[in-house]
Amino acid sequence: KLSARLQKIADYLPQGCKFADIGSDHALLPVAAVLSGRAVSAVAGEVNDGPFEAAGRQVESAGLTAKISVRKGNGLAVVQPGEVNTVTIAGMGGALIATILSEGEDKLSGVQRLILQPNVGEDMVRRWLLERDWVLTAEEILEEDGKIYEILVADRRNEAAALNDMLYQERELPGGLNLTREWLIWMGPMLSQHPADVFFEKWESELDKLAKIRKQMGKSDQESARQKEAELDLQMSQLKEVL
Ligand code: SAM
Repeated sequence: KLSARLQKIADYLPQGCKFADIGSDHALLPVAAVLSGRAVSAVAGEVNDGPFEAAGRQVESAGLTAKISVRKGNGLAVVQPGEVNTVTIAGMGGALIATILSEGEDKLSGVQRLILQPNVGEDMVRRWLLERDWVLTAEEILEEDGKIYEILVADRRNEAAALNDMLYQERELPGGLNLTREWLIWMGPMLSQHPADVFFEKWESELDKLAKIRKQMGKSDQESARQKEAELDLQMSQLKEVL
């Protein structure tokens, strides 16, 4: 049975993941996670002889040598890019965790989730994530045997979300017209990039509609109507520029 701390880490493993446990010591986490079916396979990485051998024995006695690969090496050096989709690093200082992540950044290409449990220096881990392509998605704090532990879970910032941000970035059209974010939201950031005839047709007809509304408003002399008129005038002149 896992300690409460390791069990909490296991709970954040995505169902069916392939993960690398760096600094695995006795490989308790990989063995439990594969036995429970939570993970389909794992790599247990260890830099020191004693723990490396202990991990090997543990995996062997659990009969999991086909599913858990015990490897000796420094940090993420033990995995190939794309080999795992989740990485756990637990029971070390935050500075060491940040160093391991930085030195192995090329190994994180296919990795979607990091589950990190720094014993101290949690801020260094948060800062590392914040300055990169990772979003802190969960935090846990727990006490066990008189010690307090934090667990930080981070997911890779969705590439689609990043593309979406770019899509709505203010841009200049070849004619020099500036398309603001508001305009892109209105007309569609992709539709306005390569506008088809029907796109112009639609917006010409919108312009007509606006002109009709504007004409009717001209007959009213209320203050609120004046303001709405000004808004419409602006909208129409901008629309004319785009068209
Ligand atoms: N991860 C387990 C846990 O949370 O219960 C074991 C934690 S144990 C306190 C830390 C382990 O990390 C040790 O077994 C140590 O040998 C290993 N370690 C330290 N630096 C390492 C590095 N750069 N690469 C791989 N393992 C490392």
